[in-house]
Amino acid sequence: MEHYLNYIAGRWCDAPKALTVDNPADGRPCATIALADTDDADRAMRAARACISGGALTDVRPAERVGWMLAAARAIREVADEGARIGCMENGKRLQDARDEFIEAARYFEYYAGMADKLEGTAIPLGKNYLDFTEYRPHGVSVQVVPWNFPVSICARSLAPALAAGNAVVIKSPEISPLAMTLLVRAVADAGFPAGSVQLLCGEGSTVGAHLVAHPETDQIVFTGSVATGQAILRAAAGRATPSVMELGGKSAAVVLPDADLATVIDSVRGGIFFNAGQVCSAMSRLLVHATRYNEVKQAVVAMAEALVVGSGDDPRSELTPLASRRQQQQVLSMIDAALAEGATRLTGGYAPDSEGYYVAPTVLEAAPEMAIAREEVFGPVLVMMPYSTPEQAVAIANGTEFGLVAGVFGQDLDATLGVARRLRAGQVFINEWFAGGIETPFGGIGLSGFGREKGQEAIYSYVQTCNFALRLRQ
Ligand code: NAD
Repeated sequence: MEHYLNYIAGRWCDAPKALTVDNPADGRPCATIALADTDDADRAMRAARACISGGALTDVRPAERVGWMLAAARAIREVADEGARIGCMENGKRLQDARDEFIEAARYFEYYAGMADKLEGTAIPLGKNYLDFTEYRPHGVSVQVVPWNFPVSICARSLAPALAAGNAVVIKSPEISPLAMTLLVRAVADAGFPAGSVQLLCGEGSTVGAHLVAHPETDQIVFTGSVATGQAILRAAAGRATPSVMELGGKSAAVVLPDADLATVIDSVRGGIFFNAGQVCSAMSRLLVHATRYNEVKQAVVAMAEALVVGSGDDPRSELTPLASRRQQQQVLSMIDAALAEGATRLTGGYAPDSEGYYVAPTVLEAAPEMAIAREEVFGPVLVMMPYSTPEQAVAIANGTEFGLVAGVFGQDLDATLGVARRLRAGQVFINEWFAGGIETPFGGIGLSGFGREKGQEAIYSYVQTCNFALRLRQ
């Protein structure tokens, strides 16, 4: 079995303890990785602080950082095939999807390379006796805690704008899928950034993660993960009023209007809830269908779900892959059992196929809006369907959870479709295509889905603070 390392102060480092990583397709151990402790975390923080204090990232002309960013993007593309194999092995996802994570990561570096030399302040007119201008300054040391569902692309989503803006970064990789991220960080670290710009630690969230977010050298926190962990991190951040970006969970609803195109809806449901086995923060986990179309859509959704090929990520025929861990599989199955006990109806799926791997069959349930399964995040291949009668009712149900990450509307009449879309409480709204958008479009939540925006031009402003200079002129 291959053994992977942490990256601290420009060196790959082993640790006395190791973590064993499973292959979700067969439940067997596939690799080990050095398990960092809080001393490693302290070393990583010192290295990042030294990088910032020495000015190697910040005192250079920004065009220099553009060059490093573009070199990193090229290097990430070069490791995409090897990284895809590792991502598929450790996470269970389709090989192609694991490769796409690297391509997306490269795109983040290209995109934010384009902004690294365009963080321009403003001159503010105050009359002839003053000169006033603003400057954007990086926070300093950015601690970034990454989840296991898209470890490579989510890592790059925060790492790229942070480096482009001149921050040094300490990354805490997830315990479940920490391996492919080492290839991403190797590609970035070898692209010319000064030593200490990036550190990567695989450590337990409850020890190393908690230590990093409360660390006195932490200037900014970027967290992507569950609500409960986000809340714990925010409590730690309160101690030093550390600026934070929180990308948390969701329970996102699609609203199907009476004139929606059936094929468009079914295509979006397929990707919306079954891509990455539903382990997607922005998954379409609720489908609200106008009563006049409910039976037709229900039959088509069930037929599509039952036709999905369930199999391992390294088989190109597979359309639904295993969940990333045994724990996640058991959690999803227990939420389905609880839903059935509460009165939800099983339309299809709801069980674990007979396999050593961590599979859950594609599942469609019918449930009332107030049931737990219709309000809580499952993070698995489980769609909840329900009918509605009026647009007002659809909006009330869609907005009726504490989350607000994404939402969607399907319909052909522009006024009606946009009318519903504008009333949905979410950070982004998809219209006639779930997951429409890209790295160029701002992404983030409302309510328990978090705050701050990643992706797009807006995100880079999460990685800087404005300083205003007001100068009194003697005239
Ligand atoms: P998680 O909260 O269990 O873990 C996320 C990370 O936090 C891991 O690296 C973990 O080690 C670390 N961690 C745990 N306890 C910590 C602590 N006390 N202090 C610091 N770090 C700690 O989440 P997960 O199970 O890895 O990911 C699934 C969740 O992430 C889902 O809720 C999903 O919706 C959410 N998610 C959100 C987005 C988004 O962009 N909004 C994207 C992907 C996943």
